[in-house]
Amino acid sequence: MSKNKKKKAKEEIEVKLILLGDQGVGKTNLINIVTRKGFNINEESTSSASFSILKLKVDDQNYRINLWDTIGQEKYRQLTKLFFNNSKIVIFVYDITVYKSFTDLKSWHQELVEQVGNDIIKGVVANKNDLYENEKVKQNEAEEFAESINAKFLSISAKKDLPEKFEDFIRALLIEYITKGIDDDDNKISIRGGGNNDDVKKNCCK
Ligand code: GDP
Ligand code: MG
Repeated sequence: MSKNKKKKAKEEIEVKLILLGDQGVGKTNLINIVTRKGFNINEESTSSASFSILKLKVDDQNYRINLWDTIGQEKYRQLTKLFFNNSKIVIFVYDITVYKSFTDLKSWHQELVEQVGNDIIKGVVANKNDLYENEKVKQNEAEEFAESINAKFLSISAKKDLPEKFEDFIRALLIEYITKGIDDDDNKISIRGGGNNDDVKKNCCK
């Protein structure tokens, strides 16, 4: 391998990740815990397209995950093309205490496919599992939905769980993205061998 190629492999690769789901399901809090801002901080964002950064390392390669959040536009389905454009990973979030937030994921999924097609890595997150007593969505129903759209599934509480739980889920999605070797004109991603994928599979995501 030439010196140039070696240097290139060490460069940070940017990956755009978007969160979709109804207002109030906990998207902003999930982003905030994983970027170590904390739970329930009220930070006003003025931009209509904002993202937070999460840095991850997989097999000695640094990745910069841009976590794109919405600021209320999801209520009226006003997400712009800018929001969807060039996204590589999507996480659909619902609130286990609000059945509609789960059934709405079908239309969020449809909108995603209309905007960017199906060539994207997907996750489904059941949030607020600390409110188990008020659960309205049975986990196996959600897992079936996740399977039907080829998504990984995670049940979590942004409020009570350690941030690492959500970070590990994002890492597993990133590894799926890397191993599938999806590439585009901006970021060429080559198919990389095993590494710590097995650990992530064992520890992650259910
Ligand atoms: P978003 O509209 O999807 O961005 O949702 P937010 O992150 O703003 O959260 C909406 C509300 O749900 C806030 O009052 C949060 O405090 C609350 N919330 C978010 N995650 C959890 C959770 O895991 N458990 C509980 N009990 N409340 C949560
Ligand atoms: Mg929000």
